[in-house]
This record gives sequence, C-alpha cells and structure tokens, in this order.
Amino acid sequence: MRGWAFIGNSRKAHYFIIPEGKTGGMSLCNGWMLLGTSQDYLEDEAHFSSDNCKKCNRMLVRDHPEIIEKDKEEYGKSTYDGSVTKEIEK
Ligand SMILES: [Zn+2]
Repeated sequence: MRGWAFIGNSRKAHYFIIPEGKTGGMSLCNGWMLLGTSQDYLEDEAHFSSDNCKKCNRMLVRDHPEIIEKDKEEYGKSTYDGSVTKEIEK
C-alpha cells in the first residue's frame, strides 16, 4: 500500500510505500515512521498538493514516476515540469 499521511504533529503529509504484508515503514524522505497503518489511512492522490512534504515529493518524482503519472496529466505539463523536477537535476 502507499500514499500520503499526516502523522503525529507533522504539518505536512509524508509519502509512504509499504511493502505487501507489512503495516508500517519509513517515509520517502526517511524522516518519519508509520506503524500499524492501513490503506484507508493513506491518500494516494493530490501528489502536488502544497500540504505535501517537498522532500517526499522529490523522491516520488525521481524514483516512482509511475505513481504520479495520473496526476501529471491531471495537473498539466506545466506543473510537472516545474520546480519539483528542476530541483532534482541540481
Ligand atoms: Zn517527507
């Protein structure tokens, strides 16, 4: 399962990709751990929301482009080719 989650007192949502059969794991930015969760808790959409952790977002674009493919079309090319991808190239 995978998706964005707000945890603890974090004001940003972090992205988690949790292997089959597991109920927890680390965020893509490696700063947060989620335990005992379910897919109901994870929101696998709005990948370009300003509420999302920027580091998780960068990792998602860089390492898992297939996940944001749908949003890429939804938000239009301008968003996808914007700051998120530019920062990765640095
Ligand atoms: Zn994060």
